Amino acid sequence: FMQRNEQRVALVTGASSGIGEATALALAAQGIRVAVAARRTERLESLVARIQQAGGEALALSLDVTDEQQVQTMVRHLQERWGRLDILVNSAGLMLLGPIAGADTEDWRRMISTNVLGLLYATHAALPLMQAQGGGHIVNISSLAGRIARAGSGVYNATKWGVGALSEALRQECVHDHIRVTVIEPGIVETDLASHITNSAARENALRRKQNITPLQSNDIANAIVYAVMQPLHVNVNEILLVPSEQG
Ligand code: NDP
Repeated sequence: FMQRNEQRVALVTGASSGIGEATALALAAQGIRVAVAARRTERLESLVARIQQAGGEALALSLDVTDEQQVQTMVRHLQERWGRLDILVNSAGLMLLGPIAGADTEDWRRMISTNVLGLLYATHAALPLMQAQGGGHIVNISSLAGRIARAGSGVYNATKWGVGALSEALRQECVHDHIRVTVIEPGIVETDLASHITNSAARENALRRKQNITPLQSNDIANAIVYAVMQPLHVNVNEILLVPSEQG
């Protein structure tokens, strides 16, 4: 048994730009209904319009993933609209690089509350729906930084290590609910991610690293996510690590 895509519903967080936006478009192109979530409402509205113009179905959910109440409310709204949730892609994230000594500790709270707690709130809100309907798929965007730590990246590494750890625990917890769990670990991707770094030396360094190679495009990551969610139900793609060919 393979569920038809037209019957499936996806929720993508961090869908207002980068990997989340490309993933929403790619899933919609497969005929999957897509709810797109992030804080920047206008960007979500224009993404919904693009999906609808291409013949797809989409819904904008303005939310801050660090606010558990908003996440719960929006998942309830999605359930009222489409009655189900088959695929959750947790792409909302921040990479506020910089050394630990002298850091603005607000950067740490923002990263931990978005990359770890936000991902957990969305997962926690989605699980009862997936359990009730007898299955689902949760795709978490970790990073190469979830496998290799580097100087100047410690707290970001900690959040992405955390995503890998809790994803594997969740995969084991969910096997009897037929809920699949996939972790995606990209290397450098051409997105706005590095532009939000508050430490100017760390920001310049990250932007330079990206300019010195041909980075991945958001669509490369979206393709990997489509691969994972299109597998037959007995196949769980646990992990996909993909980096630019030129990234050392
Ligand atoms: P972008 O900055 O382009 O996208 C980040 C997305 O997260 C935006 O849509 C942003 O939307 C959303 N977001 C951030 N904070 C919140 C919040 N509190 N509530 C809701 N949404 C939020 O970067 P990427 O697409 O590159 O990043 C996506 C994921 O990929 C991240 O988890 C990142 O760590 C990971 N990744 C990226 C890599 C890269 O090189 N680009 C490499 C490896 C992993 P808004 O501001 O509208 O809320």
